[in-house]
Amino acid sequence: MPFERLLKGFADFRLGYYREHPDLFERLATEGQSPEVLVIGCSDARVDPGILTQTRPGDIFTIRNISAIVPPAQIPPDERQHGTSAAIEFAVRGLEVKHIAVLGHALCGGIAALVDGERSSAYASYDYLSTWTAVAQEVRNLAVRELAGRPREQISRAVEQAAVLNSIVNLMSFPWIAERVASGALRLHAWWFNLVEGQLYAFNPATAQFEPVEGVTVTPTVAKGTSLSAIKPERLIAVAAGKPAF
Ligand SMILES: [Zn+2]
Repeated sequence: MPFERLLKGFADFRLGYYREHPDLFERLATEGQSPEVLVIGCSDARVDPGILTQTRPGDIFTIRNISAIVPPAQIPPDERQHGTSAAIEFAVRGLEVKHIAVLGHALCGGIAALVDGERSSAYASYDYLSTWTAVAQEVRNLAVRELAGRPREQISRAVEQAAVLNSIVNLMSFPWIAERVASGALRLHAWWFNLVEGQLYAFNPATAQFEPVEGVTVTPTVAKGTSLSAIKPERLIAVAAGKPAF
């Protein structure tokens, strides 16, 4: 797609969607944003959270980074630039979102590089990538160990899903998130989108599996009274090992 297509697209937006929703944009401009949902997705061009959820401007606060990774809280906070953590903090403490969905996906390049490790020569000389994806190094190592000998695609899928759970656990390391989850003010959801079949999966802590989202009611991964031990990646990886890859 040539770059100029973006300008044509904006012209279409200006003459179409923008003109067709004058009340929406006036309200957003005068009242500000008040999204109830934070979606943390991957930067991958194929998995746009707004498109996948058919939401409108103002509906979801979105963070996109390599592989939808949430780093653990830095306690005490230091002077480094924590972009993802800062956006999470603003969404939770500033906007007071009621839900956070971490959205991983199939065929994730960042996760594939993490799985390949040092064999991933294409990224070996990069300055930041492997340090970032190493947030999920522990679950990656666990999956590689548990699934030794299985197809690479199957290991990658297990790590893609386990990395989402790892991000959920890391979300809970921020005290102002743990407090809100405990009080019921905030609910956390672990999602994984299979772009091969166009299906969204949500993690069900009761079965330790990512299950297809059929309707609109989805059990939060972490809710009041739910123990974090219920979402241990070991269980997920063991379940993933028993399933065919894609
Ligand atoms: Zn990705």
